This record gives sequence, C-alpha cells and structure tokens, in this order.
Amino acid sequence: MKKVDLSNLQQKKLREVFSYICSSPFYQRKLTESVIKKNGDPYKNLSKLPFTLKEELRLTSPFERSPLNISEMAAFFSSSGTTGQPSVYAWSKIDQRVYERISSRLLRNIDVASGDLTLIPMRMGMSFSWYGIFTEMQKVGAAVIPLGASSFEEIIQALIDYPVTILKTSPIIASRLFRTIIEKDRFLLSKMKLRQIHLAGYFSSKAHRKRLEEQWGVDCYDMYGLSEFGLVSGECKAKNGQHYCADYALVEVIRPEDFSPVVAGGTGVAVFTTLWKKASPLLRYWSDDFIVMNDLPCSCGLDLPRLTFRGRLIDSVVINDTRIFASDVEEIIFHYDATGDEYQIDVFGDQNLCWVKIQIEMKGHIPAAKLKEQLIDLFRVPIELELVPINDIDRTKIKPNRILDHRDRVSQDSNR
Ligand SMILES: [Zn+2]
Repeated sequence: MKKVDLSNLQQKKLREVFSYICSSPFYQRKLTESVIKKNGDPYKNLSKLPFTLKEELRLTSPFERSPLNISEMAAFFSSSGTTGQPSVYAWSKIDQRVYERISSRLLRNIDVASGDLTLIPMRMGMSFSWYGIFTEMQKVGAAVIPLGASSFEEIIQALIDYPVTILKTSPIIASRLFRTIIEKDRFLLSKMKLRQIHLAGYFSSKAHRKRLEEQWGVDCYDMYGLSEFGLVSGECKAKNGQHYCADYALVEVIRPEDFSPVVAGGTGVAVFTTLWKKASPLLRYWSDDFIVMNDLPCSCGLDLPRLTFRGRLIDSVVINDTRIFASDVEEIIFHYDATGDEYQIDVFGDQNLCWVKIQIEMKGHIPAAKLKEQLIDLFRVPIELELVPINDIDRTKIKPNRILDHRDRVSQDSNR
C-alpha cells in the first residue's frame, strides 16, 4: 500500500468510525456537539480534538466508554496498573476478529506457523497480554503453553520439557533467565528447541537485542502493544523497526513540551485513535509511550510504516532541555561485552546544576574512562560511574525504573 493510499484509507476509516466513537456516553460528555461541529472533518482537524488521558480511563467504567451493549461483548480486560490504578475495558466479538487479522499478519512476517509451540510465562487474570498471545498464536496455527506467572526455574524446566520454539517475554526477563541458566548449567541450553524470542512489555535497545541473540542463539523480534489496544506493531525479519497496523490505528507522534506534531524520524509521544468499531474506542489516546516513526520503504517489501518504541515517560529524563532515554544509555553500556545486564541511573541536583550517578554491573574488565567519556557525551553533565559486581543491583522488579530523578519538584515540573 502506497503512502497516499494509506492516508486515504485512514481518512475514510476515521470518518466512518468517528460518529461511532462519539456515541459512547464517555465521548458524548467529552465531545459536546458544538466541539464536533466547530471542528468539522475529524481527519483534517484531528489535532484540534482533545486527548484522551489514562486518568480518564481509570475514572470511568468500561460501559461508559463503549457504544455497545453486553450482548456484543466478548470479554473484559484490565491494564497492568504498573504506572497507577488499572483501567478496565471491554472487548467485543468484532475486536476479536480485527485482532486476529492484525496479529496474524505480524506473526506470519516472521514465519510463525503450525508446528511452533509458544511458551507464555505471564500473569493470567484480567491482563490482555496472555489472552492476546493465546489468540494470535492459535490464529496462525501455533500451539501454546499458558504457563502463567512462574519462577525462573519453572520457566526453564518448561523450555526443557516441551519442544518450545517461541518464548514470549520482556528483554529484562530474557536476560535474567539466561543468567539463571548459565549459573545453573550452560548445557541446559542445548536441550531446548527455542528458535525465537518475542520481546515485548518493555523497551529494548538494539545492543540488548544483539546481546540476547548471541546469548540464546535465537532470533529476537521486538513487538509493541498496549493493554488498551492490544498488539500494535511487530518487527519483520529485517529487524529495523516495527511495522504497525496503520490500517487499524491512526498514530500521531506529539511533542509533550508544546503538543506539536513531530516529523517522521523524530521522537515523541504516541497518540492512538482506533479506526474500527472497537468495544472501547479511543480518540487521541495519550499513551505516555515515546516512539519514532519511519515511513521509508522496508527491505522486507511490506508496505506498512514502522515505529521504534523508545520507552515510557518514566524511562526518560530531561536534562538541559534534552530528553534522554534509558535505552540510549543501554545502547552505550551493552556495547561492552564485560558489562552485566543490570544498571541503574540516578539524577541528582536541581534545574541549574545536576549530575548523574550510573551503576553498572560488570563481569570482567571494562575500559571505565572510555565508557565514562561516552556517557558524559550523552548526558552533558558530570557523571559518577560506579562499576559493581554481578547481582549487586536490585532485580526484584519485572519492570524496573532504570532512571530515577531525585531533583526537586520545581525542577521536574519545569521539565515536563
Ligand atoms: Zn519490514
């Protein structure tokens, strides 16, 4: 699909779905008739419509946010609540069909098919993640093991006991699992049939992915989704950005500082509008996730544009008007073979004068002076580099905040 065709398709779909979105009690209240009339065409004037915020979803019931009635619903899911109180949303029978179409397209790009066996070692309950993976794998004919929330020992045992070919997990858990295997018995890897790891649920730098591929000896593919939407995008075999379902989601990239649009290639917050009659439709949903868009042709031949997930708002910090991501830091430190997989970044001081302390686990000799120089180049402030032994940094959190900003509140507010 050419760029202009995609734009025409998105325009057509948004015009079709806009009145549907506005018919939910939530959007009826949010978008008064005068606002809708004043702004006219929703596609041309999308930027004039208000954002939908996470907080609004948390404070409303799924029934208020849906134009559908219970007979059209298929399930109810909840966000993880990692950054606050979870929100609940409805899932319809239409959503089911759309999701199967989107996700199976992404999986077929990387040859997931009948004969594959996918291990899902994640929390069940009202989380969409396990259900989404279960659904998409079934659609392409792959079998699944819904292991649920499990210890590393249980996950490793399942990878040995069953001919698992695909592991679905986050980059951090993939690293920690590998470390556990190595500490136990490196030979265990040869008993596994794994051929792919699908990385989702957390940002991943190219250097981290490369490290995982070398450690595990498998292909790792980045995927990005959010509980309010499901799987949004996935990498193809070119591994150079994730193709996203532009025919089902309109994605804007917005500068959080002044809410202006970011041009292709720049980093901004992903803002989602659903383009089908979703049970819980979203209009300009402010995700707090930073992405980079790329609409250049991909070597795989697929005509869907690509995005790169840089991290959540809390995975970044603004220093001297520049936003720096933990993934940028990771890109530098994972380049060195002797660095471990865990690190912690702490920012101290105030708006005018700050410094950054970076703890990095090490497993061998690291040219500390050179590494420190690279980190100073990135942050442009004094760096205190502390190289610590393996297992020194806390690894109890599944989604750790790699960057902690200890500067005073006034300073932080002015940086948002
Ligand atoms: Zn591609």
